[in-house]
Amino acid sequence: MPKMTLPDGRALELEDGATGFDAARSIGPRLAKAAVAVKIDGEARDLSRPLPASGRLEVVTDSTEEGRHILRHSAAHILAQAVLHLFPDATFAIGPPIEDGFYYDFDIGRAFTSEDLEAIEQRMAEIIELDQPFVRDELSKKQALQEFAAHRFKAEIIQSVDETEGAAGDAVSVYRNNGFTDLCRGPHLPSTGRLPAFKLLRTSGAYWRGDEKNPQLQRIYGTAWESRAALEEYLNRLEEARKRDHRKLGAELDLFSFPEELGSGLAVWHPKGALVRMIMEDYSRRTHLSHDYQIVSTPHIARRRLWEISQHVDFYADGMYPAIEVDEGERYVLKPMNCPGHILIYQSRPRSYRELPMRLFELGTVYRYERSGVVQGLLRARGFTQDDSHIFTTEDRLEEELQTLLDFVLMVDRDFGFEEFDADLSTKPEKSVGSDELWEKATDALRIALERAGLPYQVAEGEGAFYGPKIDIHIRDAIGRRWQMGTLQVDFAQPANFDLEYTSAENIRERPVMIHRALMGSIERFFAVMLEHYAGALPGWLSPVQATVVPVADRHADYAEQVAAGLRRGGLRAEVDLSDDTVGEKVRRAITFKHPAVFVVGDDDVEAGTVGIRFRGEDERRGVAFPDAAEELVERCRPPR
Ligand SMILES: [Zn+2]
Ligand SMILES: [Zn+2]
Repeated sequence: MPKMTLPDGRALELEDGATGFDAARSIGPRLAKAAVAVKIDGEARDLSRPLPASGRLEVVTDSTEEGRHILRHSAAHILAQAVLHLFPDATFAIGPPIEDGFYYDFDIGRAFTSEDLEAIEQRMAEIIELDQPFVRDELSKKQALQEFAAHRFKAEIIQSVDETEGAAGDAVSVYRNNGFTDLCRGPHLPSTGRLPAFKLLRTSGAYWRGDEKNPQLQRIYGTAWESRAALEEYLNRLEEARKRDHRKLGAELDLFSFPEELGSGLAVWHPKGALVRMIMEDYSRRTHLSHDYQIVSTPHIARRRLWEISQHVDFYADGMYPAIEVDEGERYVLKPMNCPGHILIYQSRPRSYRELPMRLFELGTVYRYERSGVVQGLLRARGFTQDDSHIFTTEDRLEEELQTLLDFVLMVDRDFGFEEFDADLSTKPEKSVGSDELWEKATDALRIALERAGLPYQVAEGEGAFYGPKIDIHIRDAIGRRWQMGTLQVDFAQPANFDLEYTSAENIRERPVMIHRALMGSIERFFAVMLEHYAGALPGWLSPVQATVVPVADRHADYAEQVAAGLRRGGLRAEVDLSDDTVGEKVRRAITFKHPAVFVVGDDDVEAGTVGIRFRGEDERRGVAFPDAAEELVERCRPPR
């Protein structure tokens, strides 16, 4: 008789041959209804599998991330089944669940059309209606190769014995439903009818194994949820995200563009975009200066030799552009990172412990190779400017320094209007440099910093870089999306690569520890996230135009100019709309551009020295004395520091 232990410590005894589903049912009918799998001692299994003699049992329900993962896995099978049914010559590759959905890669000899997607969705609905059970089966590698003989990509997976795709060792697990079979490790829903809500979203080209040298496949993306309501909510979120897409807003608000002639992953900044960018950069420089950083500047290209010393050519070759040969045999590369430049500044003369921690800061533009398929507007570009800092510290000041750094990062994020954060703490991987003691010290310091800052965090065990532990900081935006922004990376390797030293209080030569710290990540990426967060309606201090002055008629143009000049003297950014459009059209246009304020001036205003003001999202107020209006706008547009 299986004897299971529940998460609350209770024991659960079941009949011989009882399954995960029986266990869920004996705990409660509601739990059984929401169950999609069970976990035995942490390992997820199908509900229909008989339970072992004992173990810790946990029921996985459909509205958890783990449960949704199983829903989406099952949805991917149903998608492949539908495609293979509708396109008898189709072959299929891989179809994993992903964040918020799933995809599957196929080859049907052409791209899918939107009509195809409709037909596939229809067929999927029929398969769900038929409520076909998913049955697990285990085959030998040889049997599996026979079964998938017609599908070269599956055969390749079986050959390559990739545990994550259902082909582990000699036993290959497959799931069958109604004659359709797919390689899979599982677990799965008990049957197709248990998939409550799904939708196919789009298609795109995708290379087999993500490699351009391989055949191109057609990928279908879909999403699946535990209820119709959850699906609707997700689709609304997608629609909201589409409206907020920074590439779309960038064009509508005339901020930046990505001309084809310029090349993939590169943007030109139009006057208004460049102005916002300048405001962000000015904020960044002055905040760093007021927090004990020193501003430095380093060139965009450097001898390849430098990147050999830093070992970037060994560990970062994929992200670097090919070398440029200048004089004979002299090879230069575009900088993918600012670190070596900052190290050279540290190294330029002997350093004493009294100078540490030394915090060097640069708005440093770097160039990184990204495949054109993954380039995504300003979020993932081929050239971008990091708000990059390298801190050189003694080992015993490391903990204190990391706490100060984390506080600084959060302060800046808050200044830009982000309120919700969490972090990942990545710890020592199998292969690493630096003593265990130093790793432990640095990792503890990061952990203490996170706890003191009250930041929720997950530990990514063994996920750190070989040269040190790190914290990645994520922010949550206005529509609940999570973005990775800042990073604090401790580095034990670079100080050794460059043989960095300082003289200690005891007059001994010691090696400093280095911290890499990008706070916004890059100005471009932060700009994009911020633009999407605010849906284009930037806070007053960041708005390229803070007030548009609209004269009611031509005869008010002079007064409008005076009002704008007055605002500019008060340090505000104001423009006058002198177009031939009607007042209504001008006000509407100013609203479309999401400027914080519109000042409308007519006869009464010229007479009395007043303005009509309309702040974004508020009702119009007429006849406000100009100095009061200006003062209020200054107040609303005051930078956070
Ligand atoms: Zn599967
Ligand atoms: Zn660095």
